[in-house]
Amino acid sequence: MAERSAYDAVVIGAGVIGCAIALDLARRGFRTLNVDRGPAPGHGSTSWSAAIIRPYYSTTDGTALAYEAHFAWQNWTEYLGYRPDSALHYNDCGCLVLEAAENRQLAGTRSIMREVGVPFTDVAAGELPEWLPGADLRQFSPARRIDDPQFGETAGDPITGAMFCPTGGYISDPQLATAQIAHAVEQAGGHFRFNDTVLAIHQSAGKITGLTCANSGLIHAPIVINAAGPASRWVNDLAGAHQPDHISTRPLRQEVAYVPMPQSPQGPGLRFVLTDADCGIYMRPEQSGHLLIGSLEPACDTLEYLDSEDFETSLSEQWTNQVWRAALRFPDLGIPNTAQGFAALYDVSEDWIPVYDRSDLDGYFTAIGTSGNQFKNAPLVGGLMGHLIESVMNGADHDRTPLQFRLPATGRDVGLGAFSRLRPINRASSFSVLG
Ligand SMILES: Cc1cc2nc3c(=O)[nH]c(=O)nc-3n(C[C@H](O)[C@H](O)[C@H](O)COP(=O)(O)OP(=O)(O)OC[C@H]3O[C@@H](n4cnc5c(N)ncnc54)[C@H](O)[C@@H]3O)c2cc1C
Repeated sequence: MAERSAYDAVVIGAGVIGCAIALDLARRGFRTLNVDRGPAPGHGSTSWSAAIIRPYYSTTDGTALAYEAHFAWQNWTEYLGYRPDSALHYNDCGCLVLEAAENRQLAGTRSIMREVGVPFTDVAAGELPEWLPGADLRQFSPARRIDDPQFGETAGDPITGAMFCPTGGYISDPQLATAQIAHAVEQAGGHFRFNDTVLAIHQSAGKITGLTCANSGLIHAPIVINAAGPASRWVNDLAGAHQPDHISTRPLRQEVAYVPMPQSPQGPGLRFVLTDADCGIYMRPEQSGHLLIGSLEPACDTLEYLDSEDFETSLSEQWTNQVWRAALRFPDLGIPNTAQGFAALYDVSEDWIPVYDRSDLDGYFTAIGTSGNQFKNAPLVGGLMGHLIESVMNGADHDRTPLQFRLPATGRDVGLGAFSRLRPINRASSFSVLG
């Protein structure tokens, strides 16, 4: 059968965000197509995601969305609308967040969590050895680089406390999750084209008319959605959609380390997600007895923003710095001679908060700037983008009167103006992967 050349909506990208948007649109009755230059769903940034589900963000809207995400992942089969052959595991082990000077001893975070109604328990300093057996619980802040003569120095003061959030954990396989959403899209009538690159986006009289792909050629559509992850900036250029005073995005290179899990007499040294701003890292258990270590972008590190999508894939001193920071917290950590882990990109906005919005060009929408922290929210991003796209196409003036989106499980309304391209840079942000 000849492939169709006209759709109601074309999504550029079949990562977790693009697939979730297509699912919501297809369920609303739109004839959708996802075009991706990769070979299958979730082969971009999504495939490298640490896939941590955690409810603490620095803004009320970010926290409300992320808390809601826990329920979406808990009710995965319901969300998909079918029972997949391979089970996706949501390890809802919870998250421990250490107090640190960098997060102002969690004062603001706790108050937002209370406002949103996110459950958490306070962990007193004296209880921490039970939570983190074998850990060195002294303060090392500020995080330093290993070539800094003061690396590892401490005045000896203990970490003052922590909070534990039971509604969190991590997803075993972010690529599998995306493939399962893509299957749900097909069940809802949506289409995919892989190994095909979008080369041009077309408009006439200020309205989207379609796009041209390397293999498929011209495709007609009145709606195009940029969900191109680290390539989002260049896709926006194709549409001529970016204005200097809008929130913009650019790719950031990041490394993630795997090391053998430190052991304690009580078993594995870490059984949940740990956010350790005092050392500038986050950690979680990884399969095959490993510990995953990622960066919280401490002030001492120079961030590697890129001007193109070509990037060095071999591991560097960033790996070494992260592993040594983890070894400050877990002195029994074995530092392997051979670096294990990977380098990957995510697209970061000026305030590390995504742009889920329309654009100045009618019919062109963006779900970009996911800033290393939106895998968890993908099922909700699908819903809020579907709501936004349908409302705007039906005449809603979202720029003037920002739309609200009701979160299905918690019943809270989120103001979508928080994700507008026109917003002032949100100074409440952590300006890090924590959002
Ligand atoms: C190392 C790392 C750790 C992370 N950890 C977490 C975490 O713990 N928790 C969390 O919530 N989030 C995390 N994230 C962030 C999360 O993974 C991303 O926010 C999310 O996966 C982004 O999905 P996406 O669909 O927007 O992008 P992608 O998965 O990159 O998908 C975009 C797709 O667009 C395609 N594309 C681009 N340009 C074109 C074009 N011109 N034509 C056709 N196709 C095109 C690409 O091939 C790609 O498949 C992490 C990310 C990374 C990299």
